[in-house]
Amino acid sequence: MKQQKGLFGDDSTPWEQDDAQTGLVASVVMPTGPEQPFDYLVPDEMVGEILPGRRVYVPLGRSNRRVMAYCVAIERKEYGSRKLKYVLGALDQQTLLSSHMLKMTQWLAEYYLASWGQVLEAVIPAAVRGNAGTREVTLLSVPSEVAARLASIKLSEKQQKVMVTLAAASKPMTPGDLAEKCGCTQAPISTLRKKKLIQSEVRRVSHAHFDDLDIEREPAKTLSETQQSALKVIFDQVRAPEPKPILLHGVTGSGKTEVYIQAIQHVIDQGKQAIVLVPEISLTPQTKQRFASRFDRIAVLHSHMSDVERHWQWKRIASGIVNVVVGARSAVFAPTPQLGMIVLDEEHDTSFKQDSMPRYHAREVAAKRAEYEKVPLILGTATPSLETFYHAQQGHYELISMPNRIGNRPLPAVRTVDMRYDKTASFRGAISRQLYQSMKRTLEQDGQIILLLNRRGHSTHIQCPKCGEVVACPHCELPLTHHITDGSTVCHYCDYRSTVPTVCPQPTCRYSGIRFSGIGTQKLEQEVRAKFGSYPIIRMDSDTMRKPGSHEAALERFRNREVKILVGTQMIAKGLDFPNVTLVGVINADTALHFPDVRAGERTFQLITQVAGRTGRGDLGGEVLVQTLSPDSPAIEAATRHDYALFAEHELPARRDFQMTPFAHMVRIIARGPKQTAVELFMQEVAAQIAQFAEQRSAEIWLQGPAPAPIEKLRGNYRFHLLLHSEDRHVMRAAVLHCREKIAVPDDVLWVADVDPIDMM
Ligand code: ADP
Ligand code: ZN
Repeated sequence: MKQQKGLFGDDSTPWEQDDAQTGLVASVVMPTGPEQPFDYLVPDEMVGEILPGRRVYVPLGRSNRRVMAYCVAIERKEYGSRKLKYVLGALDQQTLLSSHMLKMTQWLAEYYLASWGQVLEAVIPAAVRGNAGTREVTLLSVPSEVAARLASIKLSEKQQKVMVTLAAASKPMTPGDLAEKCGCTQAPISTLRKKKLIQSEVRRVSHAHFDDLDIEREPAKTLSETQQSALKVIFDQVRAPEPKPILLHGVTGSGKTEVYIQAIQHVIDQGKQAIVLVPEISLTPQTKQRFASRFDRIAVLHSHMSDVERHWQWKRIASGIVNVVVGARSAVFAPTPQLGMIVLDEEHDTSFKQDSMPRYHAREVAAKRAEYEKVPLILGTATPSLETFYHAQQGHYELISMPNRIGNRPLPAVRTVDMRYDKTASFRGAISRQLYQSMKRTLEQDGQIILLLNRRGHSTHIQCPKCGEVVACPHCELPLTHHITDGSTVCHYCDYRSTVPTVCPQPTCRYSGIRFSGIGTQKLEQEVRAKFGSYPIIRMDSDTMRKPGSHEAALERFRNREVKILVGTQMIAKGLDFPNVTLVGVINADTALHFPDVRAGERTFQLITQVAGRTGRGDLGGEVLVQTLSPDSPAIEAATRHDYALFAEHELPARRDFQMTPFAHMVRIIARGPKQTAVELFMQEVAAQIAQFAEQRSAEIWLQGPAPAPIEKLRGNYRFHLLLHSEDRHVMRAAVLHCREKIAVPDDVLWVADVDPIDMM
């Protein structure tokens, strides 16, 4: 094949072989379909328009179907004797991803076993890809050389008027505006455009605008000594050429947020931006408030945002005007041009892991992004995940400890109530005698109370006492929960709803005395109303907090003390700071303790510690009562003593013995399908292939399963899972890819691999 001399003639070198062509080559990845990048040539006239981080159109396949793809690299290079096709055009006029971000998405795809194209689609919001809230307009103007000789051009009267009006205009005009101003039709304008006396340009304009948050300003606090030394460690990392992530391990109320704020101020003073990641922004209105009261130009990203606003915020952030981005998980992808710091608050929170493809963990992604952009990452929490704690122990992360509360306020006293013995006669319900008495005392002293119960609904168990039939979801075979507010029974896994049965649904039984037992937040609310009816109470769970803004409204009523008792699920355990809360009651500490999950103990410890941290934040002190059937469980015991070290000392050796995270990497493979045997056989094949693969490579991959998943059936699909553990994540990745290649998947079976899984159900 002949070299394309002339096109890029200056680049051809004398020693090139005859068939070695050189050209400007764009590598592109497609959002769906083939996973590997493809090379295309960039036509001369598109140089400078086709750039990495933009979307382009390319011809694909024999039919040269026009498809959209992401340009991920541009390089002038030899491409041998390959016949490359040409890029058809650019879709974006602006770059959507910086080179750092491109690199990070490539890493993310590799690490989480996703396709690069799929990751790109996840990283750039649909609102941005679809240009929500903008439209294309044609703008007309008179070229300057035409304007200069305008008097000498022969034109009709109407055309003359159009030309003079447009030439005199201070900025380009749309055809519509121009016609209106001249009182003419589009005809003379079209003629002039054809004659090239008027030039046109298509531009995308935004018709959206949103106001900045209007929140009262607060001054910086004078830092305590502990806070000052924490800040110093952070500044050292800001200056470091290759900053290390920092674990800020501080008890609840130790003043971590103030440290983040002052660290961020330092970064902004250098003209850079910061990203603050929080568990779920709509659940933590106080966090938003605290940042908004301290910084100009912050962007709060949340799930209730419209597409138009999301696009608008994205562009503001990309322009560099925004100082601080506050948001949940996906804000880790915010397009800050000059990133200076990432803060991830409540780093242990499970909502940082995405439960659909790509199944990334914002903490890991943040660590990678921080590494590429050479900025510090601050991970803050009172209860570090064992992964992060272990990294710090190993010296991979800097560790800052803030073991005391601000002003040396004591941590609240935590007592367990042993429910095994509390079944004393005449005291019925979910609230024990001790808790009842503490509540009574608290209310008499005008304190406020938080009651945590991590199950929503009324009765969690509906059973026929005659035949034993448990009322279950027809699609999941899991027990239905009775919701009293709308008189329905609901499957908490698939949201199947039906009316409450009045008789046993078993056709042969039909007994009318069906029994409702087990307690959810609705029943707890009723019990509290029955016992403390004169005190205003509010319930917060995903049933009562459906409407956007309802969370803020409820918390406001609690803040201004109109409401005395707050009952809710784990959504009330996070980040609330109300000094008048002097009692916290945990109705059942064991809900998560007996899950078949390596992190069951860790979750329990975290939840109790976090909710206990909601009290004793003011001068009034605070107390916590934890009702449990397992008071001797190490997780519960450590939580009652506020003793993270005790918890870690107990938990880490067990994890080490069983080769569990953080000592080994884990991949969970889940398959599902309507036919149980098909799914099971498929999973056996996966397990066999992986075992064989590991043996061939003399690699150690430890397999657990395949076995039916704890949720065996969901929405009519049977589910099986298989856990892989290994110290070598690369070999596990290779093993999964090997399965993808080798195993023919039956039509009705779907399978996914979840890297570093959190959800074990
Ligand atoms: P954490 O984030 O560790 O739970 P916070 O940052 O919420 O702790 O701090 C707890 C309380 O102490 C808040 O009400 C906060 O305003 C206050 N606070 C934090 N730092 C200081 C300080 N240096 N001086 C006075 N009050 C402070
Ligand atoms: Zn169901």
